[in-house]
Amino acid sequence: MKIICIGRNYAKHAKEMNAAVPTTPLFFMKPDVALLRPGTPFFYPNFSKDIHFECELVVKINRVGKNIAAKFAHKYYDEIGLGIDFTARDLQQKCKENGHPWEIAKSFEGSAPISKEFIDKKAIDLNTLSFHLEKNGETVQQGTTEDMIFSIDRIIAYVSQFMTLKKGDLIYTGTPAGVGPIAIGDELTGFIGEREMLSVRIK
Ligand code: MG
Repeated sequence: MKIICIGRNYAKHAKEMNAAVPTTPLFFMKPDVALLRPGTPFFYPNFSKDIHFECELVVKINRVGKNIAAKFAHKYYDEIGLGIDFTARDLQQKCKENGHPWEIAKSFEGSAPISKEFIDKKAIDLNTLSFHLEKNGETVQQGTTEDMIFSIDRIIAYVSQFMTLKKGDLIYTGTPAGVGPIAIGDELTGFIGEREMLSVRIK
């Protein structure tokens, strides 16, 4: 099982990061041990002083596919969940400055909280799906699939050119604007529409 994460898929987030809006999807990966199971707290690691939340819709791949055409991509997923792409922003900044890979900033243990459930795509409108993240009860991020630069189908088509997608793979589809730091004691709660999907306590 692999975790694929899309970067800069919302123009306002690219802007807040002082990054250009991409013309092709940008992706990186997290290992399976990055997955933070529902109900598990996140322990703030010693190697960073600036961990940020990035709340993202997550697509679960339902079958094996390679070189998938965008028009057929919808056959490769049935369910949408919600996740957080925890990012050590201080380490990421150093990686960017030095042209180094992002793994230490993005792919550490527990850096990918995932929702306790996934929603059947037949029960939602994927073109206008909204989601949000609350930190200690206050909304900090709000997104809608309408603002995605690359649709889920385009992402699947793009990524599957480079690697075979397999059943159970997860694609974190990028974060909207409003990313920010976490601190020990914080509670993050994520919603798709009004449905609570995810809750993570920072310890
Ligand atoms: Mg992200």
